[in-house]
Amino acid sequence: MLSVEGLGSAYGRIEALHGVNVAVDAGEIVSLVGGNGAGKTTLLRAISGVQPVTKGKVLFEGVDVTRLGPHRRVESGIAQVPEGRQIFGSLTIEDNLRLGAYRRNRGETSAFLERVYDSFPVLRERRQSLAAGLSGGQQQMLAIGRALMSDPKLLLLDEPSMGLAPILVDRIFEAITRLRDAGTTVFLVEQNAFAALSIADRGYVIETGDITLTGPASDLMRDERVREAYLGV
Ligand code: ATP
Repeated sequence: MLSVEGLGSAYGRIEALHGVNVAVDAGEIVSLVGGNGAGKTTLLRAISGVQPVTKGKVLFEGVDVTRLGPHRRVESGIAQVPEGRQIFGSLTIEDNLRLGAYRRNRGETSAFLERVYDSFPVLRERRQSLAAGLSGGQQQMLAIGRALMSDPKLLLLDEPSMGLAPILVDRIFEAITRLRDAGTTVFLVEQNAFAALSIADRGYVIETGDITLTGPASDLMRDERVREAYLGV
């Protein structure tokens, strides 16, 4: 479904990605793990089209989208849940969700809203409350829900565990697994390698802008280097 080929990206003269290759098949959860500043966010933003690339290609369903703007990529079925959630605290939960469907007609918007509320019932209960009043875990649900409002085929998630207590991390990752089971393909980047690899089908390790390891997630969790560097074992 997604194929990233030899992708490079830079901030001024500083190269953040040196030629990254990543593939995600339909129906998979693929996790990219790595430490602070390894290039995870840069890669996700390059896939969604908000970060310029210096070389290489992004193919989505066989189509080269490398030169397409972010809106066009959303229309083709890619949605990103940004790092730090970036919800609008002074808007209601429902209005935040509607923003994710800004290119949809009223009927579609209502149907997608119901689907998000079925996935995250707490958002339905509080639909008319201001988003600022949600807990961190609920805000993450809202950020995921907003991305789902564009009815994506591929969901890109940037550090969904960030700032959450372990029990909430579990809940968010269970929700991500349910989305995959319901047919959404997921590519997620995380510093929390344990949570990310536990739910993934396959994984990649990124270090200073290069992919250094890849394989089935269960193999990566057993790999000595991964255990020492990322799992604290
Ligand atoms: P984190 O988990 O901390 O978000 P990350 O793996 O997502 O880390 P990136 O944010 O992609 O890493 O950063 C990759 C590299 O690019 C780092 O060396 C970082 O310092 C640099 N970088 C990121 N954003 C900028 C920016 N806006 N301007 C200059 N350099 C940047």
